[in-house]
Amino acid sequence: MASVTNATLESIKKTIKGYFAEADLTLIDRAYSFAETAHASQMRSSGDPYIIHPTEVAQILADLRLDLASICAAFLHDTVEDTEVTIAGVRAEFGEDVAELVDGVTKLSKITFRTTEEKQAENFRKMIIAMSKDIRVILVKLADRLSNMRSLQYLAPVKQKRIAQETLDIYAPIANRLGMSKLKIELEDLCLRYLHPDVYYRLAELVQKSKAEREHFTEEVCRIIEENLREYEVIAQVSGRAKHFYSMYKKMERRQVDYHELHDLIAFRIVVDNITECYKALGVIHSVFKPIPGRFKDYIAMPKANNYQSLHTMVISPSGERVEIQIRTQEMHQVAEKGIAAHWKYKEGRFELRDHENVQWVTRLLEWQKDLSDPNEFLETVKIDLFSDDVFVFTPKGEVKQLPYGSTPLDFAYAVHTDVGHRCTGVRINDRIATLRQRLKSGDVIEVLTGPVMNPSKDWLKFVHSSRAKAKIRAFIKVQERESAKLEGRELLEKALRTRGWSLARLEKSEHLSKMLQETKGKTLEEVFISIGYGRFPLEDVLDRVFPKAELEEKRKELENESLLKRMIRTATKRSETRNAIIVEGLDDMLVRFGRCCNPVPGESIVGFITRGRGVTIHKSNCTRAIDIDSERKVDVKWSAKAPGALKRIVRLKVFSTDGTGLLASLSQTISGCGVNIASANVRTTKDRKALFQFDVEVGNMEQLDRVLSALESRPNVISVERGGS
Ligand code: MN
Repeated sequence: MASVTNATLESIKKTIKGYFAEADLTLIDRAYSFAETAHASQMRSSGDPYIIHPTEVAQILADLRLDLASICAAFLHDTVEDTEVTIAGVRAEFGEDVAELVDGVTKLSKITFRTTEEKQAENFRKMIIAMSKDIRVILVKLADRLSNMRSLQYLAPVKQKRIAQETLDIYAPIANRLGMSKLKIELEDLCLRYLHPDVYYRLAELVQKSKAEREHFTEEVCRIIEENLREYEVIAQVSGRAKHFYSMYKKMERRQVDYHELHDLIAFRIVVDNITECYKALGVIHSVFKPIPGRFKDYIAMPKANNYQSLHTMVISPSGERVEIQIRTQEMHQVAEKGIAAHWKYKEGRFELRDHENVQWVTRLLEWQKDLSDPNEFLETVKIDLFSDDVFVFTPKGEVKQLPYGSTPLDFAYAVHTDVGHRCTGVRINDRIATLRQRLKSGDVIEVLTGPVMNPSKDWLKFVHSSRAKAKIRAFIKVQERESAKLEGRELLEKALRTRGWSLARLEKSEHLSKMLQETKGKTLEEVFISIGYGRFPLEDVLDRVFPKAELEEKRKELENESLLKRMIRTATKRSETRNAIIVEGLDDMLVRFGRCCNPVPGESIVGFITRGRGVTIHKSNCTRAIDIDSERKVDVKWSAKAPGALKRIVRLKVFSTDGTGLLASLSQTISGCGVNIASANVRTTKDRKALFQFDVEVGNMEQLDRVLSALESRPNVISVERGGS
């Protein structure tokens, strides 16, 4: 086995020499030996010596032409986590740069993405921060993941699925965002193999079967393209290759078709010397083949967010097939394959990013992260930004702005400047007055109309799309809400003090206050006002801390008649089933209501928000409404284990079925058969002889609900069953 890794080691060194002639390769030898000694007693799940894995990671990074420090870190990346080696040891042996990288990768490895949603968001945030410190950390991590995915067959099926899903959810989008399409493609295909083995192996077989035919077709089209380009004196390399399995799978899913109905399976690529030649080649292609309208995309003038550049067009080939053609320069090709890694430039012994733009998205994410205090909000942000395409619009002066697909004029306004967003009163799109809710299209010219006052509202959050706009609006609302909570809290406290013959001025001078502030862990008086205003710090507690018990007793009755908050607390103290079903972290006796938007059922993941004067509102933790609520008001809640099933929740079920007589009775029977009460039932028939039933049922927990749902779904006439809000 040692000979296998030795051969790889030689190949790595050769690869490095190829792009970095004066590299000090003894460093690579040392890193290899160091890792080999450290991992000496360890095996991979495959039974191979462990050193094969770090060596493979190093090879992947050398192929991406990374610098020596990254490749050393690749060899060492698992030593600190899995062996006796310490970071200090790595630092002593290989210096600060390598040690920092190893440390970064070790920390990233500790992140698992499969705990609760909230933790996942928090982890994602850590990952982004790790990346922004040194983007090479994530490149080592991506190579590590690729190597692990390649040997996934040795793990248990459950683990295979989990790791593949995590790779598809987190690592492949990051590779894509960094423009590393080669790596992304391999990751995605491996994910498909473990997540949908049936699809994967069928595609593999079909592709293999049609190989000869496809190769003949590819050669033929390449030949025609080459001949025509030569005629117009365009020097080009022309090639064609089958698309990767995962993209075929996505196409089949999206278009709801089978493999045999996929026509554009082969992408042709024309690589030329410079941009002028790109457009010239495009002209030749369009004069030889019939272009399909609406399928031409100019990513040279408008590069994608990950810096990808190319001309894309779709034409009809001589044999009548639809054929996709990409035209690009050699340099663009490098960027398309290697993404951010194509931008390294050798400088004083290490590689540096050629321009800062390439890490712009990391910087942007960090900037938003500062405005967001709730990790769930952050995950939303990151998800939107990793997964959506972009639109390009113009300022009246012709400046291009790049916004996520689905953006509105407000997103544009915030992209121009926070202040422009805050003061936005209206918009003109292509010289016409438009609504703020309109979705922007590429090419739109946007003129934002502003007024003297800042007027962001919660309403805006319902339709803005970009993370930046959302973060800025939330931050604005948060400040405003804090301000009004502060005023309200101050007023409440003043009133309460007055009933005891005290004033705020007297309190401020008294030693009681400083004692209380100390007890509340150094909060300022302002923060106490805010807490009172938000209802997080009950006024009673504040007074308990300020006044001795005896004095409090004396004034209690008086206070009871006046205090608004007291009344609220009394309402909250009312015995109710709801309250018993929910435990609010750190707060006893809170009045609890359920959000009507998502209507959670015992057992579901939930989150609570303090609503001034109305206690705590419970939402499902993935409820869109909940995400828009100020995270300052968030409290941890959980279902009480005390009385499972004691709480009945009314849930609305919408059942869509073919029309049939007696169906209402038999569906009702199905529901009661599951031991579930029906509070009300309703039926409406549609013109096309279908029926929509609406049942309000009383369920005690998720299992019960699931049981009803699947019982209904399995009824022969039923087309779909849906859970409604309330
Ligand atoms: Mn590893």
